[in-house]
Amino acid sequence: MAIAPPDLTTPTLESRNPATGEVVATLPVDGPSEVAAAVAAARRAAAWWGGLGFEQRARRLNAFKRRLARDSAALCDLVHRENGKPLADAYTEAVLTVDHLAWAARNAPKVLRRRAVWPNALALNHAATVEYQPLGVVGVIGPWNYPVYTPMGSIAYALAAGNAVVFKPSEYTPAVGRWLADAFADVVPEHPVFTVVTGYGDTGAALCRAGVDKLAFTGSAATGRKVMAACAERLTPVLLELGGKDALIVDDDADVDAAATAAVWGGLQNAGQACIAVERVYVTEPVYDRFVERVVDLASRVRAGSGRDAHIGPITMPGQVDVIERHLRDALDRGARAVVGGADAVHRPYVDPVVLVDVPDGALILREETFGPTLPIVKVRDADEAVTRANDTAYGLAGAVFARRRGTEIARRLRAGMTSVNSVLTFATVPRLPFGGVGESGFGRIHGPDGLREFSRAKAITRQRFPLPVELQSFARPAWALPALARATRLRHGRR
Ligand code: NDP
Repeated sequence: MAIAPPDLTTPTLESRNPATGEVVATLPVDGPSEVAAAVAAARRAAAWWGGLGFEQRARRLNAFKRRLARDSAALCDLVHRENGKPLADAYTEAVLTVDHLAWAARNAPKVLRRRAVWPNALALNHAATVEYQPLGVVGVIGPWNYPVYTPMGSIAYALAAGNAVVFKPSEYTPAVGRWLADAFADVVPEHPVFTVVTGYGDTGAALCRAGVDKLAFTGSAATGRKVMAACAERLTPVLLELGGKDALIVDDDADVDAAATAAVWGGLQNAGQACIAVERVYVTEPVYDRFVERVVDLASRVRAGSGRDAHIGPITMPGQVDVIERHLRDALDRGARAVVGGADAVHRPYVDPVVLVDVPDGALILREETFGPTLPIVKVRDADEAVTRANDTAYGLAGAVFARRRGTEIARRLRAGMTSVNSVLTFATVPRLPFGGVGESGFGRIHGPDGLREFSRAKAITRQRFPLPVELQSFARPAWALPALARATRLRHGRR
């Protein structure tokens, strides 16, 4: 077979295996005109996809779901090579993604379809309905840390709501993004309903300016601000899933063993590269020593590497290692004590687990997103102090509480979009629950009914069923009509 000569006019992007440096994929760097063409094609596809109706869409989304479930070995192998995470972690992503996709396809009609609402007394002669219509084309800009689960949290729900999607994956995991779009095109070959553009930040910026009907972004707060500014030029609405500095609180009556197991998992899994990772732990005095002892035991057994025995993989984005190193050095310089690992934990591209105690409050590792396998543990007087300190952050994504008596009460007081009691990260596995944050962690919600509505526009309709003897919406209404209505309103709503 003749090999086509390389197209020297198109700039390309190489993704590399972070563990070995091997090239995983070479993909085009799409500029504004390629992005505009993808959005224009998606707009035509959106008209078809939106017009299919819930049942036909669900049939196709279920075919996509089956494809993902059947071919998860190939997908997970690609995730392992391009992102570096252990295969087991790649499977976790795939399993969660399939579950969310199935839920979105099944529940879109229930959540979004047209339904009658009571019109209230003032419009008793009207029928009133609300329905949630697709927006059109949704742009999705995704990260590299969960290259399947995170963008699919927007993509699956946007598709189920009847939109077409143009996805710009991270420059570190573009092949995973391309794989997802190709798998969809295999089962929905008719129109380019879900397509991918690849490139660096400029490609993402072009997508923000391409006239999409909504832009869903996951990444850092700094880039989130740029995305929002670019989208503002065309009043394109945005959904921002940004970082976090999530706290885990351990109260006096907690199951300390379970709390330690969860802290180690929640802080170290995926090498800490998760927006909802446990980034800080506040433990009350009575259980502090026992908790630290247990965490040290568990965390010192966690191995970083790329072999089959590794629990955590490399740091996917080389620049992130600098951030982790800076946070560690800063904490140690300020007097923190490493009880697992230490300053020498960083050996690129890997970072071994580090557990720190006696961390002073101003340390970067307690204030900024570290995104690494680090676990700073802070002793507090009681759970109330823990809540105050946990909430003393501009972020507000998620968190966890371990307590027997006051778990839910403490969870409700945490200024964060999601909290698990007596476990970590569980909210992310429940398709019916909304996922999103407050403050620097962004706004808008993916997952669940809120996630379906996020990619829809509410459409309200009233239909007059019969005319009233007195037409209030007329300059010809009798003079007594409005004073009479005001009197009735006073009687109904104005009484003490
Ligand atoms: P960024 O926020 O810079 O990138 C996220 C996505 O946005 C990528 O696809 C990126 O493309 C794209 N992008 C970059 N610049 C622009 C732009 N001007 N307009 C539109 N899109 C753009 O995150 P990084 O990957 O650089 O990671 C930096 C930090 O962000 C991490 O240290 C971590 O703290 C946080 N983070 C948080 C995540 C979360 O889940 N909330 C996920 C990932 C990171 P490209 O990759 O091609 O530059």
